[in-house]
Amino acid sequence: MRFPLHITTDNIKHSMKNALQGNRRYPFVLMLEPLYTCNLACIGCAVERHTGKLKDRLPVELCLQAVDESGAPGVSLCGGEPTVYPELRELVNGIIERNRHIYLCTNALLMDEKVFGLIDPHKRLTINVHLDGMRETHDHVCARDGVFDKAIEMIKESKRLGYHTITNTTIFKETKISEVEELCEYMASLDIDGMLISPGYQYESVEEDIFMTRQDIYDKFQRVLEISKRYRLTSTPMFLEFAAGLRDYKCSPWSTVTFTPNGWKGPCYLIGKKFTWSWEEFWHLTDWDYWESREDRLCQNCLMHSGFEASVVKELPRNPGDMARLMAWNLMG
Ligand code: SF4
Repeated sequence: MRFPLHITTDNIKHSMKNALQGNRRYPFVLMLEPLYTCNLACIGCAVERHTGKLKDRLPVELCLQAVDESGAPGVSLCGGEPTVYPELRELVNGIIERNRHIYLCTNALLMDEKVFGLIDPHKRLTINVHLDGMRETHDHVCARDGVFDKAIEMIKESKRLGYHTITNTTIFKETKISEVEELCEYMASLDIDGMLISPGYQYESVEEDIFMTRQDIYDKFQRVLEISKRYRLTSTPMFLEFAAGLRDYKCSPWSTVTFTPNGWKGPCYLIGKKFTWSWEEFWHLTDWDYWESREDRLCQNCLMHSGFEASVVKELPRNPGDMARLMAWNLMG
């Protein structure tokens, strides 16, 4: 199977429970950003995400409260760099105790110091390593030499120790798809458990001209769609067809809710129009109809999986053919 079985069953149970309660919108993933401190300053990262002070991090209790409030079956631990978070072990254990699945999103530089030997492999833990290309490209994106080689060393060790390990690649304007294919081939040789490939989002705080227009994304993802037939990508085929401009969806910003050192961030993982410490205020006062419509100028070139993978799932009951394709894709992965 492409995903561990409990991820599929947890998501089905979560959807059924919400359907029975009459909920049309509900979170699938909590993007939990316990800190805005990082040991890198990558060129495509929102500036606020790597310039925060460690002392301003969220306490573990508040992180776990957010896990409970969101009710999402998946928790993506990001930031900042989560391995810099001093209470990482306690936080991971608390999330696993709640039967949620964790994606630990990391640049991998501190895996040997902060994860291996301290946090055991667990079926509810996926290590998700950031890799935006082969050595020269990735080191350029990370603005530091040696990051690629360290990440590869850590991926090999992660696999050797038995962690479920995937990679996460962002496509920018300058990304060569032939290099993405080379990366997929290399990762397949390391027996990686999955690869997530997504288009970059143009954060307002990033001045570099590295982001794509919607047409640029369509062109690049038509090639990624081809590649996806040969490698173990974790993006659904329908999402990749959407990113390639072959189908259209409304956004589902409520599916991926974000809790940060400034509180709940709305309306979505990418746009921080409003921050609040109250889940009720965030959930009930965000204008979901407006943000689903994608009419805001900030949505113009956004085709991010965090907004649209849930739209794929939401549309499945209306497209039985897609439902069958998705099941086959998961089983055969
Ligand atoms: S389209 Fe993108 S930027 Fe707009 S609400 Fe959805 S996820 Fe956010």
